[in-house]
Amino acid sequence: MNILITGGAGYIGSHVLKALLERGNDSVTVIDNFYSGSKEALITLESVGKFEFIKCDLSDTFSLREIFKTHKFDAIIHFAAFIEVFESTVKPLKYYLNNTANAANLINLAIEYGVGKFIFSSTAATYGEPESGVVSEQSPQNPINPYGKSKLMTEWILKDAAAANPNFKYGILRYFNVAGASSDGLIGQNYPNATHLIKVATQTITGKRESMSVFGTDYATKDGTCVRDYIHIEDLASAHLSVLEYLSSNDSDIFNVGYGRGFSVFEVIETAKKVSGVDFKVINASRRDGDPAVLISNADKLKTKTNWKPKKDSLELIISSALEWEKKLK
Ligand code: UDP
Repeated sequence: MNILITGGAGYIGSHVLKALLERGNDSVTVIDNFYSGSKEALITLESVGKFEFIKCDLSDTFSLREIFKTHKFDAIIHFAAFIEVFESTVKPLKYYLNNTANAANLINLAIEYGVGKFIFSSTAATYGEPESGVVSEQSPQNPINPYGKSKLMTEWILKDAAAANPNFKYGILRYFNVAGASSDGLIGQNYPNATHLIKVATQTITGKRESMSVFGTDYATKDGTCVRDYIHIEDLASAHLSVLEYLSSNDSDIFNVGYGRGFSVFEVIETAKKVSGVDFKVINASRRDGDPAVLISNADKLKTKTNWKPKKDSLELIISSALEWEKKLK
């Protein structure tokens, strides 16, 4: 297949690029504006396989159209987006313009140039604060921040676009809490300002932070801290390949991407201490706005309808790979 990856220098995009290069069947073009993506990741991946890179911002509709004119893509995997929940609450338009408006333009070009498949990075944040912590693809979507809303609107655009264009199919992937790094140590999470729990824990272990905070210890959960479904980046990456293949003989569909089990913040911290052997400093702090108590995927659909076989469902493995990667970063 001739595949376009937007945001292919980013954390998730680069792992999917790596998986495609290792599979070796495709002609791959990557676009990225290096807002949060990593040039080093792309340089490293040149040793894994051949791909074309074009520096391009999705808001540059002229350049984007030129790329479509000169390439005949069969599929697009669209990662390029802003992802910080708190920032989205103070700069909502930044999120709507990139995650929704630029995505709409990309979808429009995809249809105009006859691209048959569109894989979209959506998020568990589109579910908002579910009553029961375990959500299936049919659970109500009531996002509670502009980030989740910007992604949900793009889901709607994709559904309407596919309904009106029979040759255009989408695969929407709603990610749960992705963490870890590639097991061969080649690539990982490069973005230094990431606020995610496992990233912060590994930064604390490696002395880049003096301590870390637990945001809320009074939730109605087993130990009072929030529970999340942490998934290894390599299993998340392989889900994209599975859904791409699924779309070859099936209609558009939506999939949760998680393991269907949860760990509390305290459990993650305990595991990080055990895996690293470092008893780092942890401060119990107040709740962070907008955190649901429990968010766990029902991931049966991805497992039963596609050929996806998770291989890294272990919190120890996720944290140790994240830690090995963090140790390599300056
Ligand atoms: N969290 C925390 N300390 C941190 C970062 C995160 O206690 O330094 C908590 C956060 O409040 C949430 C859970 O860890 O309950 C997962 O947060 P993360 O930002 O990793 O992912 P989210 O679920 O918000 O997408």
